[in-house]
Amino acid sequence: FMDLTRKLIEVRNILKAVKISGNLVLPSIVVIGSQSSGKSSVLEAIVGREFLPKGNNMVTRRPLELTLIHSPDLATEYAEFPQLGLGKVTNFRHVMQTLVDLNSAVPAADCVSDSPIELRIYSPNVPDLTLVDLPGYIQIHNKNQPRDLKDKIAALCEKYIQEPNVILAVCAADVDLANSDALRASRRVDPLGLRTIGVLTKIDLIQPDAAVNLLTANEYPLHLGYVGVVNRSGSAADKSLGAIAKRDPLAIVGVPALRTLLMRTLEERMGSRLTTLADAVDQELAEANYQFKVLYNDRRISAESYLAEAMDSIKHRFKDFTRAFGKPQVRSEVRSMLEDRIVEICEGVYWTDARLAELAKDAKAKDDPHWVHKLALASSALTKSGVGRTSTQLVVDSLMAHMEKLVAGEPFVHHPDTRRKVLQLANEIIRSKFHTTVDQVENTIKPYKFEVECTDMEWAEATKRAVGLLEREIANSQKAYDAIKATLGRRTLNGMISYLQGLETEYAKSLAASAAADVGALAPPSGASATAPTVSLAQNKPPEDTSRDPLLRLVPTDLDARPSGYTDSSLAKARAALYHSLRMQSLYSRLYHVKSRACRTPDAQTICPEVFLECVSEKLTYTAVMFIYIELLNEFFFQFPRDVDERLYYDLSKQQIGEFARENVGIRRQLDLAERKAVLDLAQGKLRALVRRQEEVARRKRME
Ligand code: GDP
Repeated sequence: FMDLTRKLIEVRNILKAVKISGNLVLPSIVVIGSQSSGKSSVLEAIVGREFLPKGNNMVTRRPLELTLIHSPDLATEYAEFPQLGLGKVTNFRHVMQTLVDLNSAVPAADCVSDSPIELRIYSPNVPDLTLVDLPGYIQIHNKNQPRDLKDKIAALCEKYIQEPNVILAVCAADVDLANSDALRASRRVDPLGLRTIGVLTKIDLIQPDAAVNLLTANEYPLHLGYVGVVNRSGSAADKSLGAIAKRDPLAIVGVPALRTLLMRTLEERMGSRLTTLADAVDQELAEANYQFKVLYNDRRISAESYLAEAMDSIKHRFKDFTRAFGKPQVRSEVRSMLEDRIVEICEGVYWTDARLAELAKDAKAKDDPHWVHKLALASSALTKSGVGRTSTQLVVDSLMAHMEKLVAGEPFVHHPDTRRKVLQLANEIIRSKFHTTVDQVENTIKPYKFEVECTDMEWAEATKRAVGLLEREIANSQKAYDAIKATLGRRTLNGMISYLQGLETEYAKSLAASAAADVGALAPPSGASATAPTVSLAQNKPPEDTSRDPLLRLVPTDLDARPSGYTDSSLAKARAALYHSLRMQSLYSRLYHVKSRACRTPDAQTICPEVFLECVSEKLTYTAVMFIYIELLNEFFFQFPRDVDERLYYDLSKQQIGEFARENVGIRRQLDLAERKAVLDLAQGKLRALVRRQEEVARRKRME
């Protein structure tokens, strides 16, 4: 013996990790026989253990692929179900129960299934063998079983008794061999009986002479011959075997003889398959190598290296991002947020003030309490607008948006889970810093709520930005106006605007008249209030809900009372256009003033509020950004790459790394091919060694 069976079983298990073509199938011993012929008893006798489910009700419904592994040094024998991952099973009653469960999993309507159960038994008492147990042939089916059961069983057995397998045809000696289903099936696929062993069970039930006849008379000749067994121990069994041996010393009887014959036969079959097998592995390996070269240019890759690359790419992109996400960028984001606030504040406090023109015209306006008060109001509206929270939130939002971009492309499109984890890591760090940052920023801008001093240089910068702001707002209003003009038409728009202004003037007159009536003749009406309202109704931004607009409410609801075509919706548009046109007038006058000499120095702050607010906003921005950096960003930039390493890299088990890499289909294919190559390579090495040894043995035999 060369231990060939054992070594090839090893190779087979190695090759199991990869899908292999038919040529790589190893021979097994396939056990067939009629129901109750003693098939299970023979198998158990070979193994030396009771482990098969017994009973009359079709207990074997699936093929059982049984691998016996001779393990001389093992103290306790054990079984394994590789498909189930139960680990070592030392209790053979448990093995039996598991087999019962696996067999009863086949639906009653089907009765048999061709999906095999794999079982391995490791023991010092078993030979190295691979056996397949199959459902027993039946003559008739009972009424609960499918009609075609007989054919189904036959078809299943037919599939297994093909080359290169050895057929173990089990026949009861007390039944006429002419009626043996097993022999009939084997003769169909192996007419010369070159790979069939006949097993005659229950030899104790017939006369020794008849037994000798059956075993040697070659009524149905088999090249490998017949073995007679008694699947019972005890004196009766020994007596009948002894009687046969005495009559014909050449007759093969007993389980030990059967075992030896099986081992030798399988070993020979394995030996004759060895070259075919080695060639097949060579070919598969050559094919795998070729593919690896063509598809991947032999570039080696492992799950680990892939993960490392992915994590590096995050860190690189992150580094690039931290460079791009520098202070100037953050500052400009915070500043533009505050700029919006300035527009809102100026809109409410200044640009709709009826006395706005005074700022540019009246020299005394600088010290007028009206304007001094307004400046304090505007400035505190800006500083108290929750700059800490809004600016921090702004930076955080922008940060998270960038982080999402960071993991949006390759290779993370393949790893949605990891992508989520990366964002979660970022989010955790940010969340842990958010509140302290907000508080810090609020604390440090507190002084600006009371007093802001602007230097000449700061003032000059602020002036430039105020000019920009006014120009931008003029452009916005111009755009809005032009858009409305384009939809309504210039003439219609102008007509509607005059109509609305007419309504407003009439309204002002009626107000003045009723005021005059209230006061009576005692006080003469002031000239100004008699002709125009203090603040134009059209000057305020029209509310979303146009039905609440005070100007539009002056329009008669009755359509007949309006010029024709003046619908609610077109009047609402005209009203918006009127607002923008008035707004532009105010803004142009402010722009002119801000650019003028009068606004050139910080002491003009009361009359140049836009510049002053720009100056305040710059200080707020500078301070906020500085503390957002200190409290949040520096910390984040430092911590994030470390957390990525820690939690998404070092923390992973080998299996998790493999799963990660395989999420990427392209990488999975490459890894699978590389693994296939490795497996085939290992198998090839072992097979080549075996082939060499076989040749050596053959050479020595020739020399003898
Ligand atoms: P299977 O249905 O082909 O698996 O057959 P079993 O192994 O379950 O055996 C069927 C019956 O025959 C059982 O009652 C066994 O005890 C009995 N039997 C099996 N082998 C022998 C034997 O060598 N001698 C005797 N006398 N009975 C046997």
